[in-house]
Amino acid sequence: MRVIIAGGGIGGLTAALALHARGYRVSVFEAVKEVRPLGVGINLLPHAVAELAKLDLLETLNRSGVQTKDLSYYNKFGQLIWREPRGLEAGYPYPQFSIHRGRLQMLLLKTVRARLGTQAVITGRQLLSWREVSGGGVEAVFRDRHTGTDHRETAALMVGADGIHSAIRAILYPEEGVPVWNGAVLWRATSIARPFLSGRSMIMAGHQDQKFVCYPIGSPAEEQGHALINWIAELRTDGRDLAEREDWNRPGRIEDFLPPFRSWRFDWLDVPELIRSAQAIYEYPMVDRDPLPRWTFGPVTLLGDAAHPMYPIGSNGASQAILDAACLARCLAEAGDTPSSALQAYEAERRPKTGQIVETNRRNGPDEVMQIVEDRAPDGFEDLDAVISRDELEAIAARYKQVAGFDLSSVR
Ligand SMILES: Cc1cc2nc3c(=O)[nH]c(=O)nc-3n(C[C@H](O)[C@H](O)[C@H](O)COP(=O)(O)OP(=O)(O)OC[C@H]3O[C@@H](n4cnc5c(N)ncnc54)[C@H](O)[C@@H]3O)c2cc1C
Repeated sequence: MRVIIAGGGIGGLTAALALHARGYRVSVFEAVKEVRPLGVGINLLPHAVAELAKLDLLETLNRSGVQTKDLSYYNKFGQLIWREPRGLEAGYPYPQFSIHRGRLQMLLLKTVRARLGTQAVITGRQLLSWREVSGGGVEAVFRDRHTGTDHRETAALMVGADGIHSAIRAILYPEEGVPVWNGAVLWRATSIARPFLSGRSMIMAGHQDQKFVCYPIGSPAEEQGHALINWIAELRTDGRDLAEREDWNRPGRIEDFLPPFRSWRFDWLDVPELIRSAQAIYEYPMVDRDPLPRWTFGPVTLLGDAAHPMYPIGSNGASQAILDAACLARCLAEAGDTPSSALQAYEAERRPKTGQIVETNRRNGPDEVMQIVEDRAPDGFEDLDAVISRDELEAIAARYKQVAGFDLSSVR
C-alpha cells in the first residue's frame, strides 16, 4: 500500500520512517527546493524519544543533542520557584533531548533516504489539491517548484504534515484564515556561551508578560569550555492582529527586546550578556490555531502542526508530531486491509489529546507557576512557602505531564 506525505518536517519524516518500518511504501513531497537546517532549539520529551528509539535513532540523538538533566522555574529576580529532574534523571526509561530543530530534521531526512531510498523524499513539490479516487485512494496534485509544472500522484492514503500553514488544512477548512496570535512576541536565538547551572539545565524565568527561556543544545567545545545555548526572550505586546504572516526565519532586532531584560543579571545566568552574544536572532509571534472538530476526510488526514499547532510551551510541538506519526503507523498496521478505519482510530486517539494540550498551553501550561508567583509576590520573596506551597507546585507540574502524556507511569 502506498502512502503519500505532504511535508518533510519533523512530523512528516518521522511518519515516513514509522510507516516504512511497518511495511508501507511511502513518498514524501516537500515544498522547499532544498531542505536546510533551519530553526533553533526544540525539546524532545521522553515519550517521543521512546518512539524515535523504536526507529533505532537513539544513538544518533545522543550524538546530536543534549540530554536535559533538569528544568527550573525562576521569578524575574532569578529566585528559584521550582526545579524538577528530567529524562533519565527523573527515572524515565528514555532521555529528554534538547536539540537543534534543523539538525533533527536533517538527521531524519538522511535516515529516510538511507532506509527508503533517495527518491522517497522529493523536494520542491508543493501540494496544491487532491481528489478522492472512486473505488478508494487519493490523487494529489503537486507543483514542481523548479519547473512550474504540476504532477499527479496516486496513493491509498495521504497525510497532511505540511505545518502551521498547511495547504491541506486550508482546503478542508477554507474559512479558517491565519493563525491566532495572543499578542506575545518571541525572539529566538543561539549563543556560544559559558554553560550555566548543571550544564544540561533548562530554565524559565519571569512571568507571562516577560519571560526568558534557555537551555544548551550542543555540548561544550572542550577547548573553550563553551556550549551552544538556545534561548527565547518573550514579551507581551498589546497587538492582537498579525501585521504580516509569521515566518520562522524572520530576523529579529536586539533593540526591540533587550531593554526590559537589561537588569536580569542573576548570579547563575547573565541574561543581557547571553542576548548580546547571539549568533542570529529570529522573531516569531506566539501563535496557534483552534483545535479542529475533524482531521480525517476519506483517505486524507492531518498530522503534527497541520493538525494541532500549539504555543511553544511545555516542549510539545515536535514531540506531539512524533507521537502522531507513531500512532498513525500503529493504527494502520492494526487495521490491516481497512486503511480508512485506521485513520479514524488514529484521529480518535490523537485529536482529543492534542486539542487538550493546545487549550492548556493557552493557559500557560506548566509555566503557570511563574505567573502565580508574579501575582502573589511581584517584588520577590524571602520565603517561597509563604507564596506557593510545595503541594501546589507539584500538582501543576504533575497535571501538565498527564495532559501531555508524559507522566512517569505512562512512559514506563
Ligand atoms: C523552517 C522552520 C523552522 C522552525 N523552527 C522552529 C524553532 O526554532 N522552534 C520551534 O519550536 N519550532 C520550529 N518550527 C516548527 C516545528 O518544527 C514544529 O512545530 C514541530 O516540529 C512539528 O513539526 P511538523 O512536521 O508538523 O511541522 P514543520 O516542522 O513545520 O514541517 C512542515 C513541513 O511542510 C512543508 N510544507 C508546507 N507546505 C507544504 C505544501 N503545500 N506541500 C508540501 N510541503 C509543504 C514545510 O516546508 C515544512 O518542511 C520550525 C518549522 C519550520 C518549517
